[in-house]
Amino acid sequence: MVNIYILTLFPQMFEGPFSAGLFQKAVERGVVKVDIRNIRDYTHDKHHTTDDYPYGGGAGMVMKPEPLFEAVEAVKNELSQQGIENVPVILLSPQGRLFTEQVALELSKHTHLIFICGQYEGIDERVSEYLATDEISIGDYVLTGGELAAMVVVNAVVRLIPGFLGSPDSLLSESHTTGLLEYPQYTRPPVFRDWAVPEVLLSGNHAQIAQWRREQSLLRTAKRRSDLLAKANLYPEEKRFIQRLETSVDIGVKEQ
Ligand code: SAM
Repeated sequence: MVNIYILTLFPQMFEGPFSAGLFQKAVERGVVKVDIRNIRDYTHDKHHTTDDYPYGGGAGMVMKPEPLFEAVEAVKNELSQQGIENVPVILLSPQGRLFTEQVALELSKHTHLIFICGQYEGIDERVSEYLATDEISIGDYVLTGGELAAMVVVNAVVRLIPGFLGSPDSLLSESHTTGLLEYPQYTRPPVFRDWAVPEVLLSGNHAQIAQWRREQSLLRTAKRRSDLLAKANLYPEEKRFIQRLETSVDIGVKEQ
């Protein structure tokens, strides 16, 4: 069970993604609990101000530190009363460490996670310095807000929680879990518009199927993401297979 706290100025953005498909089922089964908090509820002035002009001038508005500190401290106090301490406070930011399956795995070990979604030009730096314990970016591009980034991170994390997926086996071969991209998948019909499913998959020979899948996984990773191969755990014969691919002009590994 993982408990996710999301601090946002736009709680309504989370209504769709968290109330459909596998995610909704996981919430119903108690595998994941999501608590969305409106940062505006932690303001005390008449206009519920959450942003202000940047010191030093410049475009856009900056999110104020007070409501963010209060919101995080409110969650932490509630958890503290239940004996839960040291909860990661994750700031979504294009300046954070890059989100990968490894980071998802690391976060999935926690029972409680707090996410802060920025908006506008960004967030007062003191939030990053004194409140957040981690900063995560979902890619080298800039979004208008951290909400979509939080959805991406939460989605990738919760599907690793035991009980989220009907069959945990599907995690084993998945792209990035193994350090490689997954092999191609097919379903019925066996022939669609003259395009046939590879025969080996219809053979019922599990050993051959496993070997074909592993080779396809290696081939596909070499073609599409050769950077991943350098870090992957490969058997000596698999390394030789890759070397043969790299020297093979036909396969076009070098052209990607
Ligand atoms: N001025 C900031 C900068 O240059 O670093 C960008 C602010 S961005 C327009 C507003 C908010 O969107 C950020 O505070 C962050 O929460 C979120 N955000 C934008 N891009 C993101 C990314 N690649 N990963 C995670 N969060 C992102």
